Amino acid sequence: MNGDKLLRPGFLRLFLLAWLAFFLGACRQPETQVSAGSLEQKAREIHKKMVTVDTHCDTAMMLLRGNWNPAERHNPEAPGSGKIDLPRMKEGGLDAEFFAAFVGQGPRTEQGYAQARKRTEELIQAVKNMVQANSSLIGLALNPDDAYRLKKQNKLIAFLGIENGYAIGRNLGLIKYYYDQGVRYITLCHSSDNDICDSSTDRAEPEDKGLSQFGRQVVRECNRTGMIIDISHASDRSFYDVLEASAAPIIASHSCARAVCDNPRNLTDDMIKALAAKGGVIQICFLSAYVKKPRPNPERDRALAEFRAKYGNWRNIQDEELRRKIMEEMQELNRKFPVDLATVQDLVDHIDHVVRLVGVDYVGIGTDFDGGGGVKGCNDVSQMINVTVELLRRGYSPKDIEKIWGKNFFRVFNRVQEVARWLSQS
Ligand SMILES: [Zn+2]
Repeated sequence: MNGDKLLRPGFLRLFLLAWLAFFLGACRQPETQVSAGSLEQKAREIHKKMVTVDTHCDTAMMLLRGNWNPAERHNPEAPGSGKIDLPRMKEGGLDAEFFAAFVGQGPRTEQGYAQARKRTEELIQAVKNMVQANSSLIGLALNPDDAYRLKKQNKLIAFLGIENGYAIGRNLGLIKYYYDQGVRYITLCHSSDNDICDSSTDRAEPEDKGLSQFGRQVVRECNRTGMIIDISHASDRSFYDVLEASAAPIIASHSCARAVCDNPRNLTDDMIKALAAKGGVIQICFLSAYVKKPRPNPERDRALAEFRAKYGNWRNIQDEELRRKIMEEMQELNRKFPVDLATVQDLVDHIDHVVRLVGVDYVGIGTDFDGGGGVKGCNDVSQMINVTVELLRRGYSPKDIEKIWGKNFFRVFNRVQEVARWLSQS
């Protein structure tokens, strides 16, 4: 071929234009797919190198169902599949899960406390049995070091928590007792006030009395034993009282930012700043109504009101058989009047907000799967990688992502243990 011809300006221009057209044509179509795919690949590489932690789920209750096997992969679409099982944890790139022993708030009587304790012990035992029956896949961790060791062994990690301090009744000694059982955090209350503190959602008793005298003793005992204090569900005044009373940093195991979604279960900017100033962490919750205010849906609201009139505060119902029946009815209601779910993008908006407010060291992930958590794009544990994909898309570095996925929470965990050691020496 004649070299001079190639260098002629007209030919060159034509050649360049043709090449550019070819290049754009080849790239434009699959660009989004390729970049989404490569982002996921990048996300998976990052997940291999870090320990990812979800600080809250209610899957322990599923374990008490005789016919539900956590080692089996359940189709997320199938009714009763739950949001978490071990194969789906692997799929989604989640290493460590806090299995909470949840007890609904019942009467504050000796009989009520005994019932709550029985339920707590059953749930703790169910998680331990699950770990034991699947010891080649998962191990129980008591501290962050255990988690890193289990990850090296290519195993999943189970931590234990208690949701609702009602589990200890009025018996401070039970904090150490549960700690020795392997429990590492206690959520001080649930949706109603209890002996420890007032709840953010107690409709029957709107006055906010904060932390009680007994609650102050509970905080001290948690500090002494190395139990992490969780203020998710606590009222605003309870939050500030606990923060002031605690010698160790505290967590919100599953709460969002109220400035992004106005809900009493979420923390205000001032609360997030105060939490961070004391070294704590807010673990962003996946419960759709806490992530994004639902669009008006009067038909659904009417159905929900009827449901509530029929069952009262159904989340507090202790009887397993009745609870199951109610859950089935709830599923039917959700099918008839589907909820308009928030998205992974909405969820990451909360992370962005906390990062802008106090920096990247004070935020993490607490899904509340099997307790109401789930958003579009991350509606069960198998889709957890999508959170990292969204973080990458927004320019978060692998280092920041590692902090959000567990390092921040582990910093608090270690600090709580240090404070306990220091208190026991002094
Ligand atoms: Zn909860």
